[in-house]
Amino acid sequence: MDFYYTFNKYLQNLHHQRLWRLPLSTNYPCPNRIEGKTGCTYCDGVSFLPHYLKDNDNLQNQMERGMKFFGKRYKVEYFYGYFQYNTSTYGNTLELLKKYDTVLEHDKIKGLIISTRPDFVYPEILNGICKLNEKIKKDIWLEMGLQSVFDETLKRINRNHSYQDFINSVEMIKKLTDFKITVHMILGLPGEDPEKIRSGIKILFNDCRIDGIKFRLLEILPGTAMHQDYQKNLNDFYNFDHKSYSNLLCDLLEIIPENVVIMRLSNFKSLKKFERTDSKHYTKEQLVEEIKTEFIKRGSKQGIYFKKKQYEHS
Ligand code: SF4
Repeated sequence: MDFYYTFNKYLQNLHHQRLWRLPLSTNYPCPNRIEGKTGCTYCDGVSFLPHYLKDNDNLQNQMERGMKFFGKRYKVEYFYGYFQYNTSTYGNTLELLKKYDTVLEHDKIKGLIISTRPDFVYPEILNGICKLNEKIKKDIWLEMGLQSVFDETLKRINRNHSYQDFINSVEMIKKLTDFKITVHMILGLPGEDPEKIRSGIKILFNDCRIDGIKFRLLEILPGTAMHQDYQKNLNDFYNFDHKSYSNLLCDLLEIIPENVVIMRLSNFKSLKKFERTDSKHYTKEQLVEEIKTEFIKRGSKQGIYFKKKQYEHS
């Protein structure tokens, strides 16, 4: 029995085979790190670059290297191009469209995922991608970094956009395109305990139509402003262990509609950083197993408690 709707399952349903996401970079800087902006407090600007990509590598090299690496490692032939690094709709619009086109035209590419921020989604780029995709219709997703629905948290982590900016972007994307939207959320941000995180997810799915969600446990990287915040305000940070994290994920999955794709449950690096636990040996497989066991115990699964418009903003 499937307890939640994974991206692998989605790909299998759509393409009837296994595929892999191919991380790519537009080679543009992050717009939240230029013109005096200091970036999100949890980000050090380098840790999220896939290890096989090199700075300013051209797109052809990135694709060749990535296909070779992931093709061999995961025994797959086809991919989704995944502009993952920085804000992949930031830059010269024509150049960006050329890059997307290079990826979409590749015969081993079945879809495209473009990660971005709510304040860098605009009609010209959306209409441009729609036009590119008229030739050979491929599956297009926009991955929107939101991290939290609470404006006080967004301010504290220096995102430089509001929750309303996100809602406006989602409405624009749905009006102009048939692209699917994934939202990226960080669990464990300062001031957000499990109860607050649950209420945030209820608000999110009450407010907008989203097709996928990706979770990440907050990772506190040395040298970041988040690290300083953590040292000064330890009590503001909920200290997850394996059990409380997997239980929280079950709680969240229960209130997420069953047709929403769960793109990721956590990033592996942050799983290794659980405090006060035997984290070294904790694996993704164990997390998945814990979720399965908990769902069996609850007699539950994704979407069981989702009821649209049931929830009020608090
Ligand atoms: S998390 Fe993304 S938007 Fe924030 S500073 Fe890092 S790259 Fe920029």
